[in-house]
Amino acid sequence: MSLTSVPGVNIVGAGLAGSLLALLLAQRGFSVSVYERRRDPRAGTAERGRSINMALAARGIRGLALAGMLERVMPLAIPMRGRMVHEHDGSAELQMYGVRPEEVIHSISRADLNRVLIEAAGELPNVSLNFGQLCLGLAHERDVLEFRDEVTGQIHHCAPQPTIATDGAGSAVRDSLVAREVASVREEPLEHDYKELTIPARDGRHVMDANALHIWPRGGFMLIALPNRDGSFTATLFLARAGENSFERLQSPGDVDAFFAREFPSARALIPDLARDFFANPQGSLGTVYTRGWHLDGEVLLLGDAAHAIVPFHGQGMNCAFEDCAELMRMMDEHQRWDGLFEAFEFERRPDTDAIAQMALENYREMREAVLDPEYRRKKKEAEDLERKDPNFIPRYSMVMFHPEIPYRQVVERASAPQNPR
Ligand SMILES: Cc1cc2nc3c(=O)[nH]c(=O)nc-3n(C[C@H](O)[C@H](O)[C@H](O)COP(=O)(O)OP(=O)(O)OC[C@H]3O[C@@H](n4cnc5c(N)ncnc54)[C@H](O)[C@@H]3O)c2cc1C
Repeated sequence: MSLTSVPGVNIVGAGLAGSLLALLLAQRGFSVSVYERRRDPRAGTAERGRSINMALAARGIRGLALAGMLERVMPLAIPMRGRMVHEHDGSAELQMYGVRPEEVIHSISRADLNRVLIEAAGELPNVSLNFGQLCLGLAHERDVLEFRDEVTGQIHHCAPQPTIATDGAGSAVRDSLVAREVASVREEPLEHDYKELTIPARDGRHVMDANALHIWPRGGFMLIALPNRDGSFTATLFLARAGENSFERLQSPGDVDAFFAREFPSARALIPDLARDFFANPQGSLGTVYTRGWHLDGEVLLLGDAAHAIVPFHGQGMNCAFEDCAELMRMMDEHQRWDGLFEAFEFERRPDTDAIAQMALENYREMREAVLDPEYRRKKKEAEDLERKDPNFIPRYSMVMFHPEIPYRQVVERASAPQNPR
């Protein structure tokens, strides 16, 4: 089946991957129908969800560039040139991410990014955006998708044409593929949850260096903070659910206050509404989703978190989902056929998504513990010196964040070579 014989494509989920994919497919001339359970964010009804801001790096930027979105997206982003490590005693040290000025990552609001992608997709005549449509999965014994209109409660089906499911980590479409034994899924929950808090602006300005990702690493847990454009920071506490230092032990405003005063005194001083924020905001869970069988023949494909959700410690989930979109377009442009496209996509892409899933888990230990270790700091410094002298030497972190031309799986291989420590 040639590409031109496919009249249109359905996309389930207008999150980060779904909205970018809608743009990319529409730019290639497909008629794209997008179904999203939330309300239309263009109407100013953005819903508060997980992670208010996130780190955008080279792989994500490449996907956005492919859709011509950089001019609209980059003004929304704040460059972060390194991690500011805050010690117990209140001292802080900046550890640069790269050795070149352009080696920075960018803090960006999830809602802003999603909104501009949806706005751009909505400007194209061949994109139809349908909000308030909850996908219930594949209809019983039929290969069409079933939806419930969230306003009228009516159940309906969408046109039987190729469907790409970008409905996130809890994908309903993935559940259908699993129920039909087309896919198998292994979910590995992390024992640590997260909670977001706000470090407000003072007189409209950031109270800490705005061009850094701030970390208060404490061995078994950590607090991080990313800058927002309004002068505030969004801080995220990553902490075990149960045990000595855990969410379970933080039951009252006094518990929370004492914990922050003991573990993060410098951050505590910057969060006036700590207890109110803490109890008002949800406690989110984290985990890795490994799926085998991302597709149902040429009819359905899982992409982004729906296929491979990962923990956020390398700041790569969205970046990887945008890279998925770019890779699918590359394969489509190269082969010019639908037949076998979805199958080939999983075959080519899964080794890379497995690799970043592993590296993301490993990076949690690095962020909450290793960055404090003098030996780690010495090795990092050595690696930076080596990188300046030898262009073939690239530390692992830099390969992941700044070198999209190196597939994730090759990052793992190259980083495990003895001459190339992380
Ligand atoms: C705390 C935290 C911090 C993170 N930080 C970073 C970071 O710094 N950098 C980074 O690259 N990644 C980060 N991530 C990961 C990133 O959020 C995800 O990888 C990314 O959102 C995946 O995009 P997606 O489009 O696949 O899924 P999503 O963005 O989750 O989009 C899924 C969409 O589908 C819709 N949907 C869901 N179910 C249905 C249904 N049944 N019917 C219709 N619509 C549906 C949802 O409403 C949503 O709009 C972080 C994640 C967390 C939890």
